[in-house]
Amino acid sequence: MITEIRSLHEEREIEYESVENFTKIALTADSASYEISVGTGLLSGLHVALECAAGGRKYRPFLVTSSNIWELWAERVRASFPEAGHPKVLFLPAGEKYKRINAVEALAEQLAEAGADRDALLVAFGGGVIGDITGFLAGIYMRGVPYIQVPTTLLAQVDSSVGGKTGVNLAAGKNLVGIFNHPKAVLVDLELLSTLPEHELRAGLQESVKAGIIRDPALFELLERERERILAGDTALLGEVVAASIRVKADVVAQDEKEAGLRMILNFGHTLGHAIEAATGYKKLLHGEAVGWGSIAALHLGLARKSIKEEEFARMANLILAYGPLPRFRAKPERLVELTASDKKTRSGRRAFVLPTGVGSVEVVYDVTDAELIEAAGKMLGDMTRLTKSGLRKSGFTNSGGAA
Ligand code: NAD
Ligand code: ZN
Repeated sequence: MITEIRSLHEEREIEYESVENFTKIALTADSASYEISVGTGLLSGLHVALECAAGGRKYRPFLVTSSNIWELWAERVRASFPEAGHPKVLFLPAGEKYKRINAVEALAEQLAEAGADRDALLVAFGGGVIGDITGFLAGIYMRGVPYIQVPTTLLAQVDSSVGGKTGVNLAAGKNLVGIFNHPKAVLVDLELLSTLPEHELRAGLQESVKAGIIRDPALFELLERERERILAGDTALLGEVVAASIRVKADVVAQDEKEAGLRMILNFGHTLGHAIEAATGYKKLLHGEAVGWGSIAALHLGLARKSIKEEEFARMANLILAYGPLPRFRAKPERLVELTASDKKTRSGRRAFVLPTGVGSVEVVYDVTDAELIEAAGKMLGDMTRLTKSGLRKSGFTNSGGAA
């Protein structure tokens, strides 16, 4: 039963309906429109979801995953299919280092060997790595076959499975090769999170904190209020957090699919976050953890520019820490800022920077200087030292903007 359907804004927007533990969010962008279903036990409907995605046409399902995920969830996936219609499973080793063009080629070869033609329908069953690769593969195999996303990490559920960005890394940098290619549908089963290591859950939640900071004060408050239960894996609360985070992303993508403007706000905390990942060789911190530190630096910049008040700084920085602990790392602020130069968001030397303007609002600015960024990065690194000394868990930020 549909209990609620509403449009978030007057202009063309996303619509969603909520039915107890099941939420459906419809994303309508220029080049595609599809539904994101969020709920518990949705895996059992995978076969039906594929039938819908195929739109009555004959299709052959191919599921891309990693063996560690498959070992945990194969039975549940298989149970959704009739005996004769099981998907063929293609494997990719787990890990960011496999998000490379040769993995796409290897999977394409496997598809070809299995006789996949344009009737193939791919399923990305994994975290962001699997999702990004499968979406890219689907876009280029036989010049394009449909795919659906079944994200299995929190990060993939709230972020990477929605919005159609797909691709792989180069030695020169992350996500430098890819295409926009939306899935036919996204199936977000919260039960999948039950096997996710806790630090992966916490790191993914940094993207939800980001969604709250940039556009959703109610989500921000929910994350503040229900921290303990969310981190303990309360499915109903996680469902609320995941759905709200997806709504933020879907809402932004619906208005600016190709990142001409508004979509850049999703990059809050990512300018320095990406630099931190690069400076630490993509090994020491998970993406969300690097974004957490990058967000704290962005908050310092906001404080320096007086675009946020000290108490707002403290509230937002403390929420980021509350979903930590964020691992420490060593880097010079100058080096981090140097590394931001290769960020894709820099165009013709103009750096787009997402500046916080309040709890739930940001602004994209183009006049942030290297000196300002170095100062903000320095302050964030200073916080790291102080907070770690005094015990990350106990301490936080005071309203005077400093680490206590
Ligand atoms: P990931 O895909 O590497 O998954 C993290 C680890 O968790 C892996 O070892 C994986 O095998 C394991 N795992 C996955 N699901 C599990 C489960 N249910 N139970 C137990 N283990 C499980 O990492 P991620 O954080 O999901 O994704 C990161 C990637 O997403 C990056 O490559 C990043 O560039 C990309 N990304 C893409 C977008 C986008 O818009 N396309 C947005 C954000 C991030
Ligand atoms: Zn991110």
